[in-house]
Amino acid sequence: MSEATDIRWMQAALAEARAARQAGEVPVGAVLVRGGEVIATGRNAPIACHDPSAHAEMQALRAAAQRLGNYRLDGCTLYVTLEPCAMCAGAMLHARVPRVVYGAADPKTGAAGSVLNLFAEPRLNHQTQVAGGVLAQECGALLQDFFRTRRRAQRASQLAAHPLRDDALRTPDSAFASLPDYPWAPHYVSDLPALAGLRLHYLDEGPRAAPRSWLLLHGPTGWSYQYRHLLAALVAAGQRVLAPDLIGFGRSDKPKKLAAHSLAWHGQVLAELLTRLDLRQVLLVRQGGCLPLAQAAPARLAGVLSLQPGPAPGAAYDAPFPDAGHRAGPRAFAGLVDDEAPPALPHMNARCNLDEPGQARDLALRAMEYFRL
Ligand SMILES: [Zn+2]
Repeated sequence: MSEATDIRWMQAALAEARAARQAGEVPVGAVLVRGGEVIATGRNAPIACHDPSAHAEMQALRAAAQRLGNYRLDGCTLYVTLEPCAMCAGAMLHARVPRVVYGAADPKTGAAGSVLNLFAEPRLNHQTQVAGGVLAQECGALLQDFFRTRRRAQRASQLAAHPLRDDALRTPDSAFASLPDYPWAPHYVSDLPALAGLRLHYLDEGPRAAPRSWLLLHGPTGWSYQYRHLLAALVAAGQRVLAPDLIGFGRSDKPKKLAAHSLAWHGQVLAELLTRLDLRQVLLVRQGGCLPLAQAAPARLAGVLSLQPGPAPGAAYDAPFPDAGHRAGPRAFAGLVDDEAPPALPHMNARCNLDEPGQARDLALRAMEYFRL
């Protein structure tokens, strides 16, 4: 088979792939050719068909076998835009297809050499000749473009689920893309009554069924990033840990006006969050004041750890604040005085440089011992 012929048929397979994309399916297309004639075409359609086996190759093989009245497809060449998976490679072997030509390699599920090579398995009776990389660039670009567009749409719909209020700012996700030691999935909530539509970000790690949980509250210049090492140490010890970014901080929305902030309001937001997540027996880790949380949710607290954090934090702490307009939260907090008496609960005082993994691990162990966990 000449190279020009392979390219011509691969273009026909690409047309099928584009039709799959049009239908909202992952764009993979196939044509089955014999003696210079198209016997059948196929396009990826597992969503529309409710059928995990509805890959482009399977569709083409089924249609061809129906048309020829024979499951054996001697003398045929199958052209497909993506390296076949194990299922499709197996079907081709059952159909005795003598030759398969594919476009882009599939490093995730390719069974023609990328992950495994069924066609080169000497213990299998039938052998199918394989050629890969025909119009690979075009075939691969179609897939990459499809996934990129889908990711964008998913991000847009996530954003639409938490629309940004006119009187607030939101730090773009890209500001947080490359922070070291901060691998946790973000959680967002905007429908707590006290939030009035503002989006609050929090980390929530560890087993849901843990009898106690930790609430790590950052200080007036920090955000949840400050607790990355302590959180990792507590989670490694089997604890459930919640680390919110207060409104105005971290990945949470940032009201433009200082007047939006009051300690009572922040306390109310946190109390509603604890109720929403149904956290009981909460051990509160705080720096400076503890917000009127003890008033807002007294029944949910089981202990307090007052922390004297270490030296001034590094550049990563600036990530949520690309300009002065984003800093209303820290500025407002500088003027808020928390004169609430500490709640009558088990209370531990500690000093820790939270940016030192060793110190954070040590603090986790000491605190668990103190609170008898
Ligand atoms: Zn397949």
